[in-house]
Parts: sequence; C-alpha cells; structure tokens
Amino acid sequence: MTTDEATLIIRDVRPWGGARSDIRVADGRIVSVVPTSADPSDPGATVVDGRGQLALPGLVNTHAHVDKSWWGHEWEPYGGEGGTQGRIAHERARRDALGIPSEGVATRVLREGLRTGTTRVRTHVDVDLGVGLRGIEAVRAAAAALDGAVEVSIVAFPQDGVLRRPGVLDLLRQAALAGADHVGGLDPSLIDRDPVGQLDGLFAIAADTGCGIDIHLHEPAELGAFSFDLVLDRVERLGIAPGKVNIAHGFAIVDVGPVRRRDLLARMASLGVTMTTVAPVRMRQLPLHEFDEAGVRFGFGTDGIRDLWSPYGDGDLLGIAWQYARAGGIVRDEDLVRVVELASRDGARFVTEEQHDLVAGARADVVLLDAENPMDALVRRVPRSLVVAGGRVFDPAALAQRPWE
Ligand SMILES: [Zn+2]
Repeated sequence: MTTDEATLIIRDVRPWGGARSDIRVADGRIVSVVPTSADPSDPGATVVDGRGQLALPGLVNTHAHVDKSWWGHEWEPYGGEGGTQGRIAHERARRDALGIPSEGVATRVLREGLRTGTTRVRTHVDVDLGVGLRGIEAVRAAAAALDGAVEVSIVAFPQDGVLRRPGVLDLLRQAALAGADHVGGLDPSLIDRDPVGQLDGLFAIAADTGCGIDIHLHEPAELGAFSFDLVLDRVERLGIAPGKVNIAHGFAIVDVGPVRRRDLLARMASLGVTMTTVAPVRMRQLPLHEFDEAGVRFGFGTDGIRDLWSPYGDGDLLGIAWQYARAGGIVRDEDLVRVVELASRDGARFVTEEQHDLVAGARADVVLLDAENPMDALVRRVPRSLVVAGGRVFDPAALAQRPWE
C-alpha cells in the first residue's frame, strides 16, 4: 500500500467553498485533498459522492455540559428558583430522578452533537460532594461507546462551589491526577465569596499537575473584571503556559468600558488566556474585531442543552455561531467566514493541539452541507447532509433521535 492510498474517498466536494475536490482518507486521517476526478477509486476504497456540496472541518463545541441533560426523557418542567444558586439547588434535587450523570445521558448528547457535525468537544463535567468523579467516568464511557468518533476533552467542574464545599478542592485534584485536562471554577466572589482563596486553590492544582484551568465567570462589570485581573495575575506569577487557562462566559469583558477592555485583552493576549462564549441572546456579544486585533482566541459552545438550567438548546454548534453572528450584527463576508472558522478550524485548539482542517495529515473530520459557501451555510444554518468523524462516515438521519424518548 502506498502512503497515499485511500480507504475512504469523499468525492466531489468543495472544501471551504473552493474548487471541487476529492478528500482522500486512510487510517482515520486525511491523506490528500486533490482536484476531483471522474474515477477516483482506489482498490477497496469506500467512495462517498459529495455531489459538489460544501465541505467544512468538523464543528467544535468548546463549552458543553454533556453530563447533564434530560435529552432522552419526557419533557421536564423548569421548576425551582431562578439565578445561579436557585438552579444549583434545583439540579441537586432533580438530577438523580433523571439519571444524571450517566453514560446514557452523555452518549445521547454527544450523539446529537455528532448528528449536526460536532466532532470535537470540550465539556465541563460536574464534580461535587454528591457525585464525586462519577460524572467524569460516565462521560469517558460515553466517548468510548461512540468509539472515539467525538474527541472529548474534560473539565472537572465544581458547579456547586469550591471553598464553600470543603472536600471539593481535593476532588478536583484527584480528577486532574486521573487525567482531566482542566479543572474548572465558578464565580469566585459571588459563589465562594473568597476570590483569592478559590483561585489560589485552583492554580495550585494546575501548577502541581500540569492541567489547565477553565473557569465559569458570570460576574458582571467591574466585579467580573476584578476576577479577570486575579486570574491573569496568577497565570503570570506561576508562568502557566499559553492556552492553558480559559475564561468561560466572562460577561464582564463586554460590560466594562473600552479602555478597560483593551487593557484586559492586551494582557490576555500576552499571557495566552482564551475565552469561550455561548453567544447569550440577551447580552452583548464578544466583539470579534477587538478580539482578533488584540490576538485573543475564543471559541463557541452550546452550554448545557435541555437541562435543569434551561429547556433551550439543541446542541447544534452552527446554531450558536449563527446566534453570535446575528446578535452581533455580523454581515460582511470576511466576518461571516471568520465565525465559521471559529466554529470549526480554530475552535479545535480548545480540544487538541493538532491541526484541524481539510488538509493532509489532519484527523478526517468533515461535514458536508448543501450550501453555496461558508457564509450561506452559516446564515441559513444549513442541515448537515453527511458527517465524517475520525474517518468514519455517519448519516445524520441515522443518528436522529426523538429527544423525549
Ligand atoms: Zn457552562
């Protein structure tokens, strides 16, 4: 077998809307992307006819909660009280009855994401005194159940607080030692009421184990910006490597004035601190040009879907990218394409160090859409007609499941 002999050929597709090409795959990786040919077949290769459709790299969900959803159960009323504390309490009261966490829940959510083209996911997984590390085990089992089609990176997430629940820091350390890629955190002022204590605890784990940190920061305006400062101080003081620390949501970055934001972004860029957003509909969006000009990377996430926090969400990352673009007033071609890049090629840096694109050497993660170009795919949220993940071909129709069953 020659080095570029293919076992799968995704024939006649337009990578990123460009010229008609054949994507040749072997051992789960792209071996070449060549002009389409009338007779591309290698002996024994499976040939998929793309019929000139648009091909994009697999979508990347950089902020999910695949351990907690009632996808697969009958409709679950919202219940409980609003606000972060109210939702935490309601989740603790109802999750056992819904089988949260379990391999079944996580598998359903990952499979639904795969159906819409998501091949790589960074997921937060609850770690608390009730479930311990059981959720992480369930998510690992779910990823294995899908045979690695979806690459999963895990954040051990202290949803119920860190310092206010003695024992949780130890659990996070155990999770990091057992291979969690990141430890999470949560509103160090508003939840633990001890921002220095929480962040010192998390950064000690990162410094000792080499794991990253991915912290939920919902804190608004200057209070949230103060948390940004504390995070950045610790990244700098401990010499944490670029790309290891992420701030999720980080609503404060759009609340503060332009000068404060410019200074925070400059410091984030120099330290390699990133952000993830779920494009919240009732808030200002992360300013695309300011982030790109500063050199601060960010990715899109679905957050939890159909869970005890919100009945909304369907797990379609392209839908989140659309929401971001629409709510942010993004209309120019180069900006629309940039959003699609963030949703796929560039978002992958939140899950893997590998190159993630339609190029030789990359994992064969390819999504086909019957769209004119990437801009059209985004603005119409075009359904995915075929998903290739790690070189395996999935028919989205075959992955479809009724969410209430
Ligand atoms: Zn979240």
